Amino acid sequence: MRAMVQTGFGGPEVLSLVDRPQPVPGPAEVLVRVAACGLNQLDVLQRRGVVRLPGLELPHVAGMDVAGVVEASGEESPVPVGARVLLDPSVPCGACPLCHEGRGGHCPNLRIVGATVDGGLAEYVLAPASAAHLVPDAVDLADAACLPTPWATAYSAVVRVGRLRAGETLLVHAAAGSVGLAAVQIAQRVGARVIATVGSPEKAAALSEVGVEHVATGTGDVAALVAEVTEGRGVDVVLEYLGPATWATSMAALRVGGRLVFLGNTTGDEVTFSLSDAFHRGLELLGAGGYQPSDMAAALQLFADGGAALVAGTFPLEDAGVAQDLLCERSTVGRVLVVP
Ligand SMILES: [Zn+2]
Repeated sequence: MRAMVQTGFGGPEVLSLVDRPQPVPGPAEVLVRVAACGLNQLDVLQRRGVVRLPGLELPHVAGMDVAGVVEASGEESPVPVGARVLLDPSVPCGACPLCHEGRGGHCPNLRIVGATVDGGLAEYVLAPASAAHLVPDAVDLADAACLPTPWATAYSAVVRVGRLRAGETLLVHAAAGSVGLAAVQIAQRVGARVIATVGSPEKAAALSEVGVEHVATGTGDVAALVAEVTEGRGVDVVLEYLGPATWATSMAALRVGGRLVFLGNTTGDEVTFSLSDAFHRGLELLGAGGYQPSDMAAALQLFADGGAALVAGTFPLEDAGVAQDLLCERSTVGRVLVVP
């Protein structure tokens, strides 16, 4: 089979297209013929050597968000040959105390398909059968490749940790990113209202494409928009993954008893806020951590209910390096897919 193999750390030149033997699934594994693979920032950070997760060995095949068709299935696998599946790239060990607590997303022995073991930038990928989720007929496989990591992450943060309910209001910053676009669509599907902030008019257009009415662009007045939409009450939940750049705005936007869910630090790792303001208003500050295995199935169900996969570009396997670099351009809206 053809595979795009990373043999060093740096630019696209550390990737080369090679022929490899087709893997054979073990008893509890499936071999998936890749229909499409969605790229993630982590792919690029690991290629450049900026981040190196424990377990990553060269040569490595990246590609975490995979959808395809089961080509071969081990004797203990319940997934039939021919099934249309997406793969949950996070593979917990299933045996440690955190896994037994239902916190597989925090498993210290976590393996990640496409990040610590070979992934979807190839014609075939091997994965545990437990990582394969059946894709409903209504969902195209290319669309399915857009959703695993961002949709499971957003579901975990907004619904499981943030407890967003019908009738509530969610504020999402940088909402045109892949997790942001997933979060707004998940909020819509649980019956909540959405207020989004984005950096540019092009990104605002992406939000209107998925039906978000209340969008603040650039340095627009978020506080005024929140006051208007919530009639001065404040939002119930904020999804915060920028850190210092938006923290004060996020805190100010919350209603009494509101929940701030945080899961990122792209603008820095330290924030300050008034303890007395936070405890007087009874705010909940909730760290989202990684998603859990059950979040993937729940997110897939919501996506099947008319979710939109916004695709910024689709590339053949030989152009995977170019595709990875496109992903890092700040103006990119939507997922970048590689189709082997
Ligand atoms: Zn474990």
